[in-house]
Amino acid sequence: MAKAIYPGSFDPVTKGHLDIIIRSSKIMEHLTVAVLENPRKVATFDIKKRVEMLKLVTEPYPNVDVDYYEGLLIDYAQQRKVDIIIKGLRAISDFEFEFQMALVNQKLRPEIETLFMMTNSKYSYLSSSIVKEIAALKGDIRSLVPTEVYEIILDRFS
Ligand code: ADP
Repeated sequence: MAKAIYPGSFDPVTKGHLDIIIRSSKIMEHLTVAVLENPRKVATFDIKKRVEMLKLVTEPYPNVDVDYYEGLLIDYAQQRKVDIIIKGLRAISDFEFEFQMALVNQKLRPEIETLFMMTNSKYSYLSSSIVKEIAALKGDIRSLVPTEVYEIILDRFS
């Protein structure tokens, strides 16, 4: 079995992310959920909070850990000595960008594979930005985010 990373912004983690984490942790020896620190993007939750939320939701899974990184994903992947990068695919709209990224990463480090995992149909509409939009308009996000982080997200928008 291989070691993998699952990178993303996770701003905040949603049930769609958690579904990918659970399914990929079952087929990987070890999975690191890697939060991207992007100085060019303004995040709603700071990196510490995003890591904290992910740690709460991944606690039941012993072969999953959470980390953060700045800079090139492929360099981080090599530094962590992983074989596989996991990406989730929701719709055709995700595909074009992810396809380009996977090919660039293949060029930079051919020994690291990108694997795409299809979204669970229950969550194909779900993204962090949708969660934030609904929360900002005081809508109910209970069915969209893991229970462990519901209050934390609500607090941020209160
Ligand atoms: P977003 O802000 O769009 O939710 P992230 O950068 O946090 O995106 O996502 C990290 C990874 O998780 C990406 O590979 C993305 O395609 C995947 N992902 C996000 N939401 C879902 C979902 N509902 N189902 C499957 N994969 C998802």
